[in-house]
Amino acid sequence: MKLCRFDKGRIGVVDGRAVADVTPALDVLPPLTWPLPLGDHLIANLAAVRERIADLLAEAPRLALEEIHLLSPVANPSKIIGAPINYRKHAEEAIADTAISHGRDLKSKTIADVGLFLKANSALVGPSEGVALRALDRRNDHEVELAVIIGRRGSDISRENALDHVAGYAIGLDMTVRGPEMASLRKSLDSYAVLGPWLVTAEEIENPNDLEIELRVGDELRQNSNTRNLIFDVEGLIEYASAYYTLYPGDVIMTGTPEGVAAVAPGDILCAKIERIGSMEVRVSAA
Ligand code: MN
Repeated sequence: MKLCRFDKGRIGVVDGRAVADVTPALDVLPPLTWPLPLGDHLIANLAAVRERIADLLAEAPRLALEEIHLLSPVANPSKIIGAPINYRKHAEEAIADTAISHGRDLKSKTIADVGLFLKANSALVGPSEGVALRALDRRNDHEVELAVIIGRRGSDISRENALDHVAGYAIGLDMTVRGPEMASLRKSLDSYAVLGPWLVTAEEIENPNDLEIELRVGDELRQNSNTRNLIFDVEGLIEYASAYYTLYPGDVIMTGTPEGVAAVAPGDILCAKIERIGSMEVRVSAA
């Protein structure tokens, strides 16, 4: 199922270029009281919501994809986890270009050496919201990434059980200001974490480690690879991350970007595409 979040608090099931508005399925969500539990309330109750959606789907009003405002399919993650240098050829381009690596010694290094980073939740937007560049005097890059959305709370998750903890997948854009500061600063500006165009539920993607991934800026193909080139694959990232952080429903793992990262400018239109998920257009402006 391709589940999208759109307009003001609406959810839909995407079928080709049509969207069935199944917002009344949210009625099954249990009421919340303060303090709110960590994690996304919809993703935590996804099984119950899907059951209700199945009842509603045939009679649900249909909208055209073009007329809705697509938001991040996850509204309230407890965290957005980033994976640096997780494709060999991206690590090589970062080593070769000091404008990317900024003095960081990345030679022969992987996540096992440098770890993961977090992006601020306040950076999260959906494709229709676009990216508003804030540091216009700096190099701002696109990074297209497979995003994994956690469905079930877990800590110290083994590789063997890792995919049981996945709710689904989406396309992530890990927008980045290049520079010497910590990644958690440079990658956390408002709108620098794009998630979309929808969540594809896990059962539709048997093997997340074999998906074509690409990003175009206008007509120009900038990034083009396959998730089989991940150094830490999806299971490996869940195992590694959950050894440090408890993962909550709705947590997002951006799995790293392939080679071809390059600068964006206001006016650019990014088109990101991942096999079996779909594609999304994201407009770049100045904040
Ligand atoms: Mn990245």
